[in-house]
Amino acid sequence: MNITCFSTALFALAFGLVGNAALAAVPAPQDVPYQGTLQIKVDATDLARRIFRVHEVVPAQPGPLTLLYPQWLPGNHSPTGPIDKLAGLKISANGQPLAWKRDPLNVYAFHVEVPAGATALDVEFQYLTPQSKAQGRVVMTPEMLNLQWNAVSLYPAGHNANRIKAQAAVTYPPGWQAATALEVAATNGNTVSYQPIDYDDLVDSPVYAGKYFKRVDLAPGASTPVHLNIVADDPKYLEISPEQLQVHRNLVQQMYKMYGAHHYDHYDFLFSLSDKMSGNGLEHHRSSENGVSPEYFTEWDKNVSSRDLLPHEFNHSWNGKYRRGADLATPSFNVPMSDTLLWVYEGQTQFWGYVMSARAGLWNGQQTRDVLAYAAATYDQGRPGLASWRSVQDTTNDPIIARRSPLPYRNYQSSEDYYVAGALIWLDVDGKLRELSGNKHTIDDFGKAFFGMANGQWDVNPYTFADVVKTLNDIQPFDWTKYLRERLDGHVSLIGGIASHGWKLVYTDKPSAVVKAAESHRGFADLTYSLGLTVGKTGDIGDVLWDGPAFKAGVSPGMQVVAVNGKAFSSDNLKEAITAAGKDKSAPVQLLVKNFDEYQTLNVDYHAGLKYPHLERVMGTADHLGALLKAR
Ligand SMILES: [Zn+2]
Repeated sequence: MNITCFSTALFALAFGLVGNAALAAVPAPQDVPYQGTLQIKVDATDLARRIFRVHEVVPAQPGPLTLLYPQWLPGNHSPTGPIDKLAGLKISANGQPLAWKRDPLNVYAFHVEVPAGATALDVEFQYLTPQSKAQGRVVMTPEMLNLQWNAVSLYPAGHNANRIKAQAAVTYPPGWQAATALEVAATNGNTVSYQPIDYDDLVDSPVYAGKYFKRVDLAPGASTPVHLNIVADDPKYLEISPEQLQVHRNLVQQMYKMYGAHHYDHYDFLFSLSDKMSGNGLEHHRSSENGVSPEYFTEWDKNVSSRDLLPHEFNHSWNGKYRRGADLATPSFNVPMSDTLLWVYEGQTQFWGYVMSARAGLWNGQQTRDVLAYAAATYDQGRPGLASWRSVQDTTNDPIIARRSPLPYRNYQSSEDYYVAGALIWLDVDGKLRELSGNKHTIDDFGKAFFGMANGQWDVNPYTFADVVKTLNDIQPFDWTKYLRERLDGHVSLIGGIASHGWKLVYTDKPSAVVKAAESHRGFADLTYSLGLTVGKTGDIGDVLWDGPAFKAGVSPGMQVVAVNGKAFSSDNLKEAITAAGKDKSAPVQLLVKNFDEYQTLNVDYHAGLKYPHLERVMGTADHLGALLKAR
């Protein structure tokens, strides 16, 4: 007996662990095929109770086996597999129940001993989907459902996820229609069986199904089909005008013109228009999950801010799914990810989401500039934390740190700023490429060179920071490492791309149409750049700008504004008070606030009027922004 065995035995005795299953380590994934095909059957008919019922057959050989519930989810970039909602786990072989043991150091792993004579395990469990948004994303309603395979399957440890074959089948509510990137093998009544596929691709191929469904061809006549599959709360939301259809078709063509290649054999947008099912934006290789409010088509003008969602998620098929940061390209769903390259993955996707919205005609030039002004203001004045203590690079850790939970001081803490700050860095790169090359090279060249190779291939093609720099250098020699690292790690201004495109950021007392739409959509007044806060219709304060005028007066995000200058709160009378105090330096902005059960009067010393961001043309310079946003 060597000392290691001896101490392990002592440990087992001390903690009362007995039996091989309890002591087995979780086998690391290996690049070897798993023998046999997982059979995953999901009953998705219990809409009223919002339960997915799973029966899975896992081919197995006698001896110890560890089953994993996917933990590290691609697209979430975080260990957020919803294991708290897995219940009722029962494992059996040849009709005999087996004891399973959850690994106490890895709660996503279940150890079981496969008995002699068994060739497979029967695994049953339920995935109890959220009954309210407070419990997580609502994914089952009377009219639609969103099934993600990572939530309704276990897979054997010890193998890379692309070396495990799986065959899935779903029983849907009667009369419903389903859309997914999976190919249908057979339909029997309400049960649809899908073609066998690698387990990692299965997890990458979720389903949207619904009572009210419409499938729209976005690439008519193309050899590689692209469809928009829509589920809605009510059939009336499925009405699409010819102009709306056209701009969505333009999106596909504009992407192809820029990249020159695509990385799927067919692509399916899964699109929910719902107030009941939670919104979503989640990328996949051959599909994407997109969820917005029901009136996306029917109240087109009110939903400007959600129109870059489809361009964003579509772009991820190239950036994020096909080309992926090497430290994100993990072999299975239970290996930790590092998110260091999300400023490319999400940042450049955010950038192309804006640009392609404009090129396709989903946004007009003014709307795009309003969105860019809002983004630029955020990194001009709206993120004091990035100016003082954090870097954009450090925010790439936020999917793991904050997991999108609400934050007390969002602007000071910063969170996931690699999206929009990343987009501004890429705008800056475009300006630099134009400047250095005498307008010969642009970001389109980078898009094509970095993402547009190997048409039709969709095996993950990983990259490193050095690869990004090399591609930029091949297009236009420059010290790109220094240029990017200054912006990612330092506190260099991130909005240089506005000026290099012939525009400047200004603040006026009138909100842009995009800010107005966002205010009415989210039900708050955005006074970030004046008083330094956002406030809801009932006076509930959202974010308070760190060290801003309201912050200095003692206002905090936990408070409610009850009255302004002695009159009951409304966002209009607050705005009037700000305007009056801007004209008359002796006029007050006096807030009566409620904090728990205490009332307090706070005087905000602010006399510069309302301020909202806009872009203004710099005359005498070339309009590179106009050139960037123009349809190809
Ligand atoms: Zn994204």
